[in-house]
Amino acid sequence: MKKISFRRLKDISVTKKVYFIVGTMAVLILVELLTLWFSIHTLSSVRALVGAEGLWSKAQKDAIYQLQKYYSSHDEQDYTAFKNFMSVPLGDHKTRLELIKLEPDYAIARQGFVEGKINPDDIEGIIQVLRRFHNIYYIKRAIKAWTDGDSIIAQLIPMGEQLHNEINSAAPSKEKLDAIIKAIGPINHSLTIIEDDFSYILGEGSRWLENLILEILFIVALTVEITGLLLSISVSRSITKGLNEVNRAANKITQGDFSERAAVFSNDEIGQVAMSVNQMTEQLLKSNKELEQFAYIASHDLQEPLRMVTSFLGLLEAKYNDQLDDKGRRYINLAVDGAERMRKIINDLLEYSKMARKDYDLEDVDMNTLMNDVARLNQTRLKENEVILEWKDLPTIKAGRTPIFQVMHNLVGNAVKYRNTDVKPHIKIEATETPEHWQFSVADNGIGIDPMFYEKIFVLFQRLHNKTEYSGTGIGLSICKKIIENHKGNIWVESVPGKGSTFYFTIGKQ
Ligand code: ADP
Repeated sequence: MKKISFRRLKDISVTKKVYFIVGTMAVLILVELLTLWFSIHTLSSVRALVGAEGLWSKAQKDAIYQLQKYYSSHDEQDYTAFKNFMSVPLGDHKTRLELIKLEPDYAIARQGFVEGKINPDDIEGIIQVLRRFHNIYYIKRAIKAWTDGDSIIAQLIPMGEQLHNEINSAAPSKEKLDAIIKAIGPINHSLTIIEDDFSYILGEGSRWLENLILEILFIVALTVEITGLLLSISVSRSITKGLNEVNRAANKITQGDFSERAAVFSNDEIGQVAMSVNQMTEQLLKSNKELEQFAYIASHDLQEPLRMVTSFLGLLEAKYNDQLDDKGRRYINLAVDGAERMRKIINDLLEYSKMARKDYDLEDVDMNTLMNDVARLNQTRLKENEVILEWKDLPTIKAGRTPIFQVMHNLVGNAVKYRNTDVKPHIKIEATETPEHWQFSVADNGIGIDPMFYEKIFVLFQRLHNKTEYSGTGIGLSICKKIIENHKGNIWVESVPGKGSTFYFTIGKQ
């Protein structure tokens, strides 16, 4: 059950999540306020009950006092005062009898308390406390004391009447009057004990209630706080988790790793963003593949007609050389040059699209051996230009041999091509190890590269020189970049123009 509601919370929209938290908090705070209101109300009613008990005791004490006064003064006014005071416990008595009924007549109960001189504003509250909590220990005992007291107080009425009759008789007997007044003593005494018990037990009860209310309020407040905190933490965590995931995947994709996907944790807006990012990548991957396919097919299919153009140009030159004037021969030469350049571009493009296809196996490649092969392939150029090419203790890496050979061949080739004619070319290859990858550097003392072109040179067809200065297609470094990225690595350059450049690339160990 808990799991289902949690899953639902995760999948509802962010706005609804916020509404949910605010709504839950509002309901909990309302519950807390209602508890507070009910507690204060109950507590003040119990306090009023304590006050009512005070009135009840005092009235009964005053009544006894008036009776004793009447005994000595024989003044009718004192007897009237006695009866007046007696109306208080009698009124309360009326209420008590009504309240113990199964279906009390509340009008009678209220009237009783009015006669008991209780403040009308307190009556309702006291009646509720007595009805609702009559089973609570303290109230039960208080009612018991009240009941006991009532039966004793009731004895005072016939006594008062006897006294009144005797005093108003033709010849009041002193002995009889003494006997009546003497009987009041023990009644008064037992009433005092009951009253003490009554007020003590109500005092205890109200202190107990006070503590209970404080505890309840504390628990309710704590529940509100904890629920709010837990809800906020869980919702904000799920939002952060989703956003971080989208961020992580988007970063990887930006770096060119189109195989990356964002995990979808929820069905809310954030989950939908993650799904959109994934769909976008899917689309990107598809159009990338299409482009690579196009480049491959185009460059592949262009080779044949180009070969035809070149061979017919050759035939033209061989067969009609004698009949052509200088101009004609120059035109043919220019056409042959153009065709040759085109062949190079097509070959490089084909190479580029082959590398993009990633159709090679990972194997252990000893970079020292590989460098030997690179040096052998470039032997003539290196010798011609008196290049010092050096490397030492290179590692064995897990890579595609052909593509990595291509990278080294391109970088060394460029280092020779873009040499500084004032100094003897010196190319140094080194490798350093980090926990996750190998980092290679190919350093030269050539013409260098302005830092503003550090990124540009890795873009397809981007060159910093025209073809008369340095021959080339502007594809070599793009091929290197593609290969290194396919190996989950990075490639970049650092250079001091005029002093030399160092190309770095990393290859993951796995
Ligand atoms: P290409 O060499 O065919 O022009 P590349 O993609 O290999 O194409 O190189 C792109 C550009 O980067 C080159 O035109 C050149 O300006 C610059 N470059 C490459 N390697 C070096 C280097 N070692 N020193 C200086 N410039 C370089």
